Amino acid sequence: MNAEELAKKRANYLSFLKKQPKGFLYLDEKQKPVAAKHAAKNADERAKNADEIDALNCNYRDCTACPLGSQGRTQVVFGKGLAEATLMFVGEGPGKDEDLQGAPFVGRSGKLLTQIIEAMGLSRESVYISNVVKCRPPENRTPLPNESSTCKDLLLLKEIAIIKPKIICTLGATATKALLGDETKITASRGMFVEWNGTLVLPTYHPAYLLRNPAEKRTVWEDMKKIMAKLAELEA
Ligand code: SF4
Repeated sequence: MNAEELAKKRANYLSFLKKQPKGFLYLDEKQKPVAAKHAAKNADERAKNADEIDALNCNYRDCTACPLGSQGRTQVVFGKGLAEATLMFVGEGPGKDEDLQGAPFVGRSGKLLTQIIEAMGLSRESVYISNVVKCRPPENRTPLPNESSTCKDLLLLKEIAIIKPKIICTLGATATKALLGDETKITASRGMFVEWNGTLVLPTYHPAYLLRNPAEKRTVWEDMKKIMAKLAELEA
């Protein structure tokens, strides 16, 4: 490679780095799982899982099983993504943007989550993204324990049973407690894999927390690197 080519390559690389989320490090090729491999399962299984998710959601389009069903939601916001994804993200609940658009993580927090997923060498379409509660709590308050547990039993646990992800990344305290128990603290459990019903769960901070505390992006990125390494190990 001559000096001119080297300078061009360096300029391209710097330009690439500038586009990455602030505080994130570049993942080298060895650390990136192959997205196609990550998503690879046969077409029949993919269609079956997608049908099962549709059928499940169909039952709850007008759900009022917990108080959030009658506290001003625009619509029920179901999970979205690849129905047989190896990696699943679980957040707390829809906010204003999600409630209006009918999709999880589409507001500012969602944009940051998308950046994180893309920095991992993946796409939103190759993972599954859901929430503990599927209806927006008023004023974006934290869901109450009875709301979380009702929606978890009706929808989240069934979504997980259909998708069968190898890794679930819980985003924030509500999702972590919903899966790992009320006594689990996000500060103590963050960044560590816990086996839960045959699936590995890794808690990390919620993107909304990162928007308020950008210095913690680096911490979350370290957690994502653990997930990438574990996915590569599981799929080797
Ligand atoms: S949050 Fe879940 S359980 Fe509660 S009303 Fe909405 S869909 Fe039903």
